[in-house]
Amino acid sequence: MILQKLKDWFGRKEAVFHEEWIALLKKNLPLYARLPEELRLRLHERISQFIATVRFEGCGGLELTEDMILTVAAQACLLVIHREGRPYPRLQAVYLYPSTFHSKQKRVDALGIVTEGEVFRLGESWGRGTVVLAWDSVAHGARDIADGENVTFHEFAHQLDHEDGPTDGAPALPGRSAYRSWSRVFHENYAEFQHELEEGRATVLDSYGATSPAEFFAVATETFFEKPRQLFRKRPDMYEELRKYYGLDPREWFEEP
Ligand SMILES: [Zn+2]
Repeated sequence: MILQKLKDWFGRKEAVFHEEWIALLKKNLPLYARLPEELRLRLHERISQFIATVRFEGCGGLELTEDMILTVAAQACLLVIHREGRPYPRLQAVYLYPSTFHSKQKRVDALGIVTEGEVFRLGESWGRGTVVLAWDSVAHGARDIADGENVTFHEFAHQLDHEDGPTDGAPALPGRSAYRSWSRVFHENYAEFQHELEEGRATVLDSYGATSPAEFFAVATETFFEKPRQLFRKRPDMYEELRKYYGLDPREWFEEP
């Protein structure tokens, strides 16, 4: 089984990231090629730990490939590139469907489920340590690095949000003053964003972010990584909170649009 092979390989100490995997990442995730060398090397380490600690399952007849596993892992790990230890300590499994999947799951908020859309969903993130993704959406989101839409960033942002308990649009932050600052900035921007939508104005963030503070954070994360310069111009204080949290400044990877 492909995943076991990858896991065995990554389990070895002397593991070196294969050239063919680098080629796969360059092909599937153009953002990877824009990262400075130092971040790419760091990302390889994180990917190794992610694959060694998270179970991947192909669902709905999907046969997992190295391609799929690496593409999901690389994007998930970019969000936690500066973390030590397990990239996502509470994450148990990633379930991958071939395409936008049909879920009969009821919305059960008490369990921390975050549903996307009505019946057909691009992805789901469960508080109990599961992420469900559709491979076609993952691949498309990875390939287009500047449309502001990336279901993998979105669902893993929800995972980060779950880590400190409630799915409330604030991830685990280092201390009270960081929470205060985050909460003030995100509340203000959320209110402004809803106001802009009501007035029918153009927004840099996708309107789905107006659904709840949790969706606002997930959509803001997609925008932060894919339209960083636009987000910075429009919402500089929110950009700054995200920059501090992720420890990255994606503006450096994009030309002035
Ligand atoms: Zn969401």
